[in-house]
Amino acid sequence: MRLDIVTLFPAIFDGYLTQSLLDKAIQRELVQIHRHNLRDWAQDAPHRKVDDRPFGGGPGMLIQVEPTVTCVDSVEAMDPKPARRIMLTPQGKRFDQRMAEDFATSERLVMLCGRYEGFDQRVVDILQPEEVSVGDFVLNGGEVAAMVIVDAVVRLLPGVLGDENSSIDDSFSRGNRLLEFPQYTRPREFRDHAVPDVLLSGDHKAIAEWRDRQSLDRTQKRRSDLLRPDNENN
Ligand code: SAM
Repeated sequence: MRLDIVTLFPAIFDGYLTQSLLDKAIQRELVQIHRHNLRDWAQDAPHRKVDDRPFGGGPGMLIQVEPTVTCVDSVEAMDPKPARRIMLTPQGKRFDQRMAEDFATSERLVMLCGRYEGFDQRVVDILQPEEVSVGDFVLNGGEVAAMVIVDAVVRLLPGVLGDENSSIDDSFSRGNRLLEFPQYTRPREFRDHAVPDVLLSGDHKAIAEWRDRQSLDRTQKRRSDLLRPDNENN
């Protein structure tokens, strides 16, 4: 998979892309991640300005349509693979595991990170990106939101996780779309808190049944919305 991230602050991703699973996935060429500084497409070369005041007045600045559309055109031309365009915005469709699974089947994503008051509306009208939000709150910029999406998507790519099954059982995931069951590791007991006997029994059928019950119980208590028939997760 190829990921292109259009941003005014490419360095924000530095630490994130060079650590742990992401670093390994890049080193093993399971994913290619390219960052593009939108200022490289600024129309006024010396100042590299890509934002301006909103028509009609109001606070803040908007990212201009011209550098953004020319940037996306040239970024997409860098590789013949068809790209799915994603704009990070609090006004978009809420990102979830199902969307992560869907994105993970794409060959290429081009992600647009906003700043200031966001993009001129014509960026949306012309590029028609999928508008995606990571939650009902407002971040300073789309970079952290893009990292959330990259993180959730890359771990689903074949070969990234040591055990492919670990992402199937995860909360919200393909296994049952419920919250995951509780898990324990050594020691068997700590401050009077013991590991449930069934997990030490070696009885795989009993363990699987216990986990299914725990998963359902936990979901009922914490996220009953996931069990409603009208929920997209069902
Ligand atoms: N004025 C915009 C509004 O009210 O919808 C908010 C702009 S926000 C300060 C700047 C940028 O941060 C946005 O263009 C977007 O790229 C990003 N952003 C902020 N909150 C986000 C969220 N919940 N999900 C995804 N991106 C977000």
